Amino acid sequence: MTQLKVLQKTETLHEARWWEPEANGRVHCYLCPRHCHINPGQAGFCFIRINEGGKLYSLGYGAPAALQIDPIEKKPLNHFLPGTRVFSMGTAGCNMGCFFCQNWDISKSRHDQVHSQHVPPEDVPLLALQYGCDSLAFTYNEPTIWGEYVIDICEAAKKFGLKTVMVSNGYITREAFRDIYDHVDAANIDLKAFTENFYGKITLTHLQPVLETLQWLKNETNVWFEITNLMIPTLNDDPAETRKLAEWILTHLGPDVPLHFTAFHPDFKLRDKPQTPPETLHRARQIARETGLHYVYEGNIYSDAAHTSCPSCGSLLIRRSWHDVTKNRLKHGRCPECGTGIPGVWEKNACDSTRLSRTPSEKYSHLNL
Ligand code: SF4
Repeated sequence: MTQLKVLQKTETLHEARWWEPEANGRVHCYLCPRHCHINPGQAGFCFIRINEGGKLYSLGYGAPAALQIDPIEKKPLNHFLPGTRVFSMGTAGCNMGCFFCQNWDISKSRHDQVHSQHVPPEDVPLLALQYGCDSLAFTYNEPTIWGEYVIDICEAAKKFGLKTVMVSNGYITREAFRDIYDHVDAANIDLKAFTENFYGKITLTHLQPVLETLQWLKNETNVWFEITNLMIPTLNDDPAETRKLAEWILTHLGPDVPLHFTAFHPDFKLRDKPQTPPETLHRARQIARETGLHYVYEGNIYSDAAHTSCPSCGSLLIRRSWHDVTKNRLKHGRCPECGTGIPGVWEKNACDSTRLSRTPSEKYSHLNL
């Protein structure tokens, strides 16, 4: 990730949700499938949930380490308010241990190793409106681990008509899933591979919980979601694996969930692997389309496969160049040629900036976003 803003350090201590006390002052955190059992004075695997005096606290609450304005296509979301700006934020820490992490400077840092600033939830939508954004994204590191802050920001955002987005690895327990995803409008879930071997060795987690999250999203919520598969040469780019991944999506989620195959670049602990050749993404996309998925994209490269086309008549609907939308021919979410409805969220809310009773510009003027 480039050009993250460096913020001032602050200290906050906010009592966490999704934990229970255990013997001898230990606590059990059940926010994610790691189920950490944390001794007094220690943190969980994700670094930002700590046991202080037999209680669990979230160090990420109100303490973003990265704030940035992005195009929504960068999340990536191609069927959610195309061509709009999204106010994007992340904290320190992560509940996965991916060797290839592209945001490792914050995700692999403890809270006290990053520069963060106190930004209470009610100020986040004010900042987003000030910068002309139509939505907020919880991204860069894993937002599940700061779910308490996510929920409170979502509640504040709704008062202004702003939509909210989780960019997540999908590693969350069922208990926390309903609590958090009841509040968000959209998500992009990383399906990092389709083998337990990859998840176990390269991310230090497991595949099955991520598949369950995707099914909960499909069957139990109205959250609009898309899927990203970062293709790493020799580790998860086997065509047979891609076919299984696409077949699973078709069977369990249907043909209309957009799938993004994106290119890897060497980073963090995986610097011995080359960049993903464009041909690998082309091949993966062809396999997924043959399988029956309607919307399959290529990302992190310049490609005609960034465009959206009608699955019925083939007409070009949305033309993109990298993260820019250069043409949008959709008419109220339908193909202008044949009238086929294209699934997604295409209409913005009327963001109610008249409720901006105060501007945060002075308080946060040093951010220079
Ligand atoms: S959220 Fe953090 S502390 Fe809680 S179980 Fe997951 S890794 Fe452990």
